[in-house]
Amino acid sequence: MVEESTLSSVLSDFARTMVTDFPIQRILDSLVERIVAILPITAAGVTMITKGQPPRFIAASDSSALRFERLQTTIGDGPCVLAYESGASVAVADLATETRFPDFARPALEAGLVAVFTFPLRHGNGPALGALDLYRQTAGPLSETDMVAAQTLADVAAAYLWNAISREKTEQMAVRSHHSSLHDALTGLPNRLLLAERLERAAQRARRTHRSAAVLFVDLDRFKQVNDHYGHHTGDQLLIAVAGRLSAILRPGDTLCRVSGDEFVFLCEDLESAHDAEGIATRITEQLVEPFDVLDLSLVVTASVGLAYAGPGTEVSDQLVVDADTAMYQAKRRGGDGHRVIDLREALRHNRRNELETDLRTAIADGALSVAYQPIVRTADGTVTGVEALLRWTHARYGEISPVVAVDIAEQSPLINEIGQWVLEQAGRDRAQWLRDAPERPLHLAVNVSGRQLLSNGFCVLVDDMLTSTGMSPEALILELTENVLIDDTERTLNVLGDLRSLGVRLALDDFGTGFSSLSYLARLPIDILKIDRAFVADIDGNPGNAAIVTAVADLARAFKLEVIAEGVETPVQHDRIAALGCESSQGFYYSWPVTAAALGEQLATTRTHPLRLPVQRGHHGSLTPSS
Ligand code: C2E
Ligand code: MG
Ligand code: MG
Repeated sequence: MVEESTLSSVLSDFARTMVTDFPIQRILDSLVERIVAILPITAAGVTMITKGQPPRFIAASDSSALRFERLQTTIGDGPCVLAYESGASVAVADLATETRFPDFARPALEAGLVAVFTFPLRHGNGPALGALDLYRQTAGPLSETDMVAAQTLADVAAAYLWNAISREKTEQMAVRSHHSSLHDALTGLPNRLLLAERLERAAQRARRTHRSAAVLFVDLDRFKQVNDHYGHHTGDQLLIAVAGRLSAILRPGDTLCRVSGDEFVFLCEDLESAHDAEGIATRITEQLVEPFDVLDLSLVVTASVGLAYAGPGTEVSDQLVVDADTAMYQAKRRGGDGHRVIDLREALRHNRRNELETDLRTAIADGALSVAYQPIVRTADGTVTGVEALLRWTHARYGEISPVVAVDIAEQSPLINEIGQWVLEQAGRDRAQWLRDAPERPLHLAVNVSGRQLLSNGFCVLVDDMLTSTGMSPEALILELTENVLIDDTERTLNVLGDLRSLGVRLALDDFGTGFSSLSYLARLPIDILKIDRAFVADIDGNPGNAAIVTAVADLARAFKLEVIAEGVETPVQHDRIAALGCESSQGFYYSWPVTAAALGEQLATTRTHPLRLPVQRGHHGSLTPSS
């Protein structure tokens, strides 16, 4: 018989666990062990019962208890079911004489069970939660005191269970409502609220780690039409499908939200560079390439994507979303049917571009423009045969501006004609000066001509005027054109090129291999020189394909009786390869940087070698210093 003091010590132990965070399972496990220790029984278990469902055993003191529990739960019959249903304890002092549980008694006896005492897990006036089962392998009743003690323990266990169950329920509900308040019901993606939370976290992380972050704003094009044409249900299904495809490209740690109707936002952290973010933008558009099969329809979806990037050390805030949204609208305005990506940095550049354009208008008058000259050499011995005139622009605020940028800006307006004319005339004057200083060394002069400039009215006259005013022989002038110029306006282009040819000037195809690369024009157009783009020269040793291209171009040039100039030769190795592959002329930092007119003139006047020979074999930039 259980001592009052023993029972109270078990109860107080129990009470102590109540205020801990012990999982209910451990509490019940220790309870049944303690019960076995204090009552004259051999095993104990706890079964949970919910009306209409088979009982579930949730605790057992040992394997025999487990066996008996299992027996009751699989058969669905036994003392525990009765105790649960009646709400009162059930005592079976000898299973052999028991008649109430025909299904349970036989197999239980065979399993070695002799006596069972079951106590409902009572909870207020409501239905019981289950039963506490005490098992014994010998016959005989439990004393009255033991029965009371056992019911007390069962009541305590019930209180525990109830607590645990309601706690779990509340948690689940909280989780569910938290989840639904932070997620979009249609797609299950995080919503605007959660995005705000994640952004906040990203901001904290960025401050700590100085890592970058990017926000990409994705807006489906013409989604409204899908809704209008096919109905909202189709629209919804499409959104779910789009959400699925977009989720597929998420990296761990990235967040994809649906912020409203057809708008999705990616938040990506820990990017190496803006380039990474652009990569994600590309993958977004790639995900949309395949049509979506929605309810018997095959829908083609395009999106506009806006990107805002916060580099390392830049403040990450919800402003990124605003910026990405703005960029997205810009993309939409630009067409919207494509998957355009606009980086806000581009917008910034755009602003700066306006400023540069304004400044470029007055650059000639301001004396901000100059021309640098890069020698072109005979590959075999380094003899300087000519120079290429390269535009230089020193901006008062931003310093050196690449001619690529300047020409790009200038080409948007007639400004290019003015600048192009200035370069041509300046180069003509400079050459005339060199010739006065070193008359025995006439150099060819190559001048770049942009497409717009070539096709502008009176270009030929301009060229002719320059030749006349400087007394330059036409064959000394080489006009460099890019391939793209030649495909634009064939008829007109052909005429202009014909006119230039009849003046006697030579024409070079610049950056050969990077542009349109249709060889048909080589036969059709009056081209004299091919300049192999430096991209092919750069990796001529590492990339066998490039060597093959250079060889092919050199062979091709021979077939068309064209001269070949290799651009961008930087190293002795490249020089050797170029020479071996049969390019008779080359240009590049290996021989010389572009230099000022004065520096070149000085070189011409002071170098006794005749003709001027750059120190090819020594593999340095000669004695000439860079112009910029
Ligand atoms: P381009 O006509 O192909 O000019 C050669 C470019 O390669 C020059 O760049 C030159 O500095 C660079 N370069 C020369 N050797 C090497 C080398 O060994 N390695 C490397 N990496 N680069 C080398 P730059 O001066 O920046 O000019 C860039 C482009 O701008 C020119 O390419 C040309 O297309 C255009 N450009 C320059 N001046 C004018 C101009 O007066 N009018 C027009 N329309 N375009 C111009
Ligand atoms: Mg050029
Ligand atoms: Mg070039």
